Amino acid sequence: MECIFCKIINEEIPSYTIYEDDKVKAFLDIEPDVNGHTLIIPKKHYTDISDLDNETLTHIFDVARYLKSLMETKLQIDGLTLVQNNGDVQEVKHFHLHLKPHYQEEQVLLPVEDVYEKLKES
Ligand code: 5GP
Ligand code: ZN
Repeated sequence: MECIFCKIINEEIPSYTIYEDDKVKAFLDIEPDVNGHTLIIPKKHYTDISDLDNETLTHIFDVARYLKSLMETKLQIDGLTLVQNNGDVQEVKHFHLHLKPHYQEEQVLLPVEDVYEKLKES
């Protein structure tokens, strides 16, 4: 299996994971557009929206809701855009939902590790 996101699930490739359960994993994008740019993926390999089941889709959105709240508390985000690419505009062919925070104030793009530390601090 050459899927990069399956390798992240199997921990063959490391990731800055901010949420995980038996069905999904959420981790920081390696090339963030903005501080806190996160991907939520199902642990089972689905290619895109066409083969993802509704139960998993709903769960992914429940996790998105939880992470929105976490980012409001830890990163002081002012808005959040959800994006999900399919077909030619999808680079990694394992279903993923992008969470892209919005900030009223212009932000310096921080190292992913620093954003991870902010999200993890209690
Ligand atoms: P797509 O265009 O498929 O919706 O976006 C794929 C996303 O996955 C991109 O934003 C890209 O930066 C991210 N990505 C690709 N490879 C890796 C990786 O190995 N680790 C992490 N954390 N993100 C990745
Ligand atoms: Zn996969």
